[in-house]
Amino acid sequence: MNVYDSSRMADILRPLGYAQVDVPEDADMMILNTCHIREKATDKVFSEIGRLKKHKDEKEAKGGKMLMAVAGCVAQAEGDFILQRAPVIDMVFGPQTYHELPEMVLKANGNERVVNTDFPTISKFDHFPEEQNQGAAAFLSIQEGCDKFCTFCVVPYTRGAEYSRPVAKIIDEAKKLVDQGAKEITLLGQNVNAYHGENSDGKIWGLGRLIEAVAEVKGVEQIRYTTSHPRDVDEGLINAHRDIQKLAPFLHLPVQSGSDKILKAMNRKHTGDRYREIIADIRKARSDIVFSSDFIVGFPGETDQDHEDTMQLIRDVVFASAYSFKYSARPGTPAANMSALVREDVKTARLTEIQDLIAAQYFDFNKASIGKTMSVLFERKGKKEGQLQGRTPFFQAVNAEANDRLLGQFVDVTITAATPNALVGEVKTI
Ligand code: SAH
Ligand code: SF4
Repeated sequence: MNVYDSSRMADILRPLGYAQVDVPEDADMMILNTCHIREKATDKVFSEIGRLKKHKDEKEAKGGKMLMAVAGCVAQAEGDFILQRAPVIDMVFGPQTYHELPEMVLKANGNERVVNTDFPTISKFDHFPEEQNQGAAAFLSIQEGCDKFCTFCVVPYTRGAEYSRPVAKIIDEAKKLVDQGAKEITLLGQNVNAYHGENSDGKIWGLGRLIEAVAEVKGVEQIRYTTSHPRDVDEGLINAHRDIQKLAPFLHLPVQSGSDKILKAMNRKHTGDRYREIIADIRKARSDIVFSSDFIVGFPGETDQDHEDTMQLIRDVVFASAYSFKYSARPGTPAANMSALVREDVKTARLTEIQDLIAAQYFDFNKASIGKTMSVLFERKGKKEGQLQGRTPFFQAVNAEANDRLLGQFVDVTITAATPNALVGEVKTI
């Protein structure tokens, strides 16, 4: 989401004469686009400001000017406090205000310090200029915000209420992305499958129906979506996995915990078994689909048995990959006031156990890919000279020797070797 937001900020700033540069020394403005999801991420912002400050100081010592801004969810949550703690910062603005960047830059250039953490009633999406080329694999934001209020999470507070963009705007944007070379589109949202956007006939579409329409856009060859919530997996979406071949056989479906007690305390509103059922239903619809997930270890009150329930769920489902995090108390969230905190060393041990199990599952999956031929979209040059890098439909990273002219193309690649985190492949028609 933040990668996408950064590219949209660049789009908005371009008409003002700004262009992206590779090193801070060349910049007239630096924007730190931030994440507030865990404490570590927030801490990083201030150390990063400290690190980058010297570039501004150097430039200003030579009589130049450099604006420094904090954007994103830390900006939304901390607002004015950032200006107080970091005098070097000129602008602080939240995720729903990016379309107002031109006015903000004008003020900041006039030496006014700007804090903008509004949730404007008009959608920023209606004010974004046309996008610049995102390449062969493009993101398209269809939904933002969240009304679910999981007890550990800051998103509903920093990103605001759930909002779905109208169907016509999304289809329009998909066409433009294809014109610019996109072959794969990843539909983005904090709760992407809570999507309920209005079609031009006034009907409300769910994500399944929307995917069907995006698949009909000429030139779209593969579709992904992220991040989804188990509660919003409905029949329409399951049928989309059955009927739409362009929908990649990979689904990131965060579960957080396998313990019913913890899931309840997290306000996830489903049980471990309900999650297993959803997985089974989707597998029935698309037999080759693989899953990834998010896990939080050490939520308040989590016992050894709760942790074991999570381990059992991972053994039962078998994931192709996953992100796992130690629980981090976020100010203002209900869980931050909960007792029965889990000791740090216990969290560390549980995290290691989960990560080891999932890493083994992922390595097994990668090894099972050897000998298979898959359609890989080459997105960038590989680490080694003469190699290109892309992803399989199952979202595994692949490196293969290939001619540069295959960059941005779907190419059949035969997998020849597997490491825990990536694959090596061979292209027939180099
Ligand atoms: N909307 C998605 C998740 C968005 S946040 C969902 O509901 O599943 C991305 C991930 O960050 C979450 O899945 C969760 O695993 C992690 N996360 C969120 N808040 C956290 C916290 N307070 N501590 C640790 N991890 C957290
Ligand atoms: Fe956060 Fe996801 Fe829960 Fe929304 S559904 S509150 S984004 S974890």
